Formats: sequence, C-alpha cells, structure tokens
Amino acid sequence: MVNKTGVTSTVPVGAVYAPDSPLDWSQSAVPGTTVLDETVAPLASWSAYVAAGDVLTIIDVGGNQSADCLIYDATDHDERYSVPDTIAWQRNVYVDTGTVLRSNLGNPLMTVVVNEIPRQDTIGGACSKESNTLRYGYHTEFQHGCRENFLHEAGKHGLGTRDLVSNLNWFMNVPVEADGTLGIVDGMSAPGKRVAVRAERDVLVIVSNCPQMNNPCNAFNCTPLRMVVVTPETSR
Ligand SMILES: [Zn+2]
Repeated sequence: MVNKTGVTSTVPVGAVYAPDSPLDWSQSAVPGTTVLDETVAPLASWSAYVAAGDVLTIIDVGGNQSADCLIYDATDHDERYSVPDTIAWQRNVYVDTGTVLRSNLGNPLMTVVVNEIPRQDTIGGACSKESNTLRYGYHTEFQHGCRENFLHEAGKHGLGTRDLVSNLNWFMNVPVEADGTLGIVDGMSAPGKRVAVRAERDVLVIVSNCPQMNNPCNAFNCTPLRMVVVTPETSR
C-alpha cells in the first residue's frame, strides 16, 4: 500500500492488527495457582523470572504469531539457552512436547510439557532492522525487529548485545526439507493454541512478540500474546 509520504510500504500506517482478527485468549495449559497473567501487545517485548517448577504457558491469541524467546539462568546470566545443545541432546531439530531446552553448559533450563501445534522452531533466528533492510529493502528501515525487542527487554536485566544468542520461535513454522533446505512459510498455529514450558531451575525468560510484517511468519497480521505462569497443583 502507499502510506502518507507516498512511499510504497508493506506495512499499513498505524497497523496493529486487523479489527476483525479472531482472538482466543485461552487459559493456562496446566492447572495450578496463577503467579502471573499478562498480555504482550503486538510488536512489543516481555520478560519475567519463572521459578523452578512453575509452568509458563504462551498463548497464540490471534494465531500464527511468532513469539521469539530467549532463556537465561536467573542468577548466572552467562548460562543461557543454546540451540546446538538443545538439538544435539535430543537428536532432532524440531522442538516439541518433551524437548528439554538446554543451556550452553548442557543443563536443562526448561522442558516443553504441552505443545498444541505440530512442531516448534529453534533454527529460524530472529528478525532485526538490519536483516529487514537487507531482505526487504530500505523502506523497512523504520521497522523494529525482534533483535531490537530483545535488546530493549534485556537492558532491563543488565544484559546487552553480547548476551543475545540464537533463539526459540514459538508458533513459527520453519520446515526442514529432505535435502536440508529451510523455509519460513505459513504457520500451523491458530487462535488460542498454546505451548507450555516448565522451569527446571529459576530462569529469566525474554520474549519478542515478533513485529515482522514482510514475510508470512505472523500471517501479515501482528496479534497479541498472553503469558500465564502457574505453580502446578502436582508440585504442591
Ligand atoms: Zn521477529
């Protein structure tokens, strides 16, 4: 479309999400006592400490909304989520129920206990201003990406650019073809779909509600996320 300045843009001016978007706010995927229940606005960032044993449910309220995610040990931020450790230990590139999300030291940080879509991605990485400009052109330069969201949120916890590592992409579909080719294609999620992860130790979780509007990862309609942390009944 053409915006107010007459420049052709893939992003409608002032767009948040389509007013007729179907939204399903769902509930925690596991029963328990609610510790935290927050909404992440479209395009925004979020972070929280999750205590060992508690379960974080991430709800894809509008469907096919990528929740880019980083995890750190709550006290030793140098121990953080590691894509190669997670993949190598489980000998599979997809994240699914039962996947142990491991640190750069190979230790369990969190475990996926509920997953309501066929698979979750941890290969596709995060978008950024720089990658947007390279991939989609200079007219996207004003858009912030997940990396900027990560930096904004990390700064609240004393972390910076050196602390940003490869991430998880909840609700993003990055199929690995038989020949190893990767794609970023239409999602397999839907409004109200959930993923739930149990903290195996006290952790810091940072999420970017992906602002990307130039490829299908968010179905070209950025929608909210709901984050619910509970202390499960069974752990009492
Ligand atoms: Zn993104």
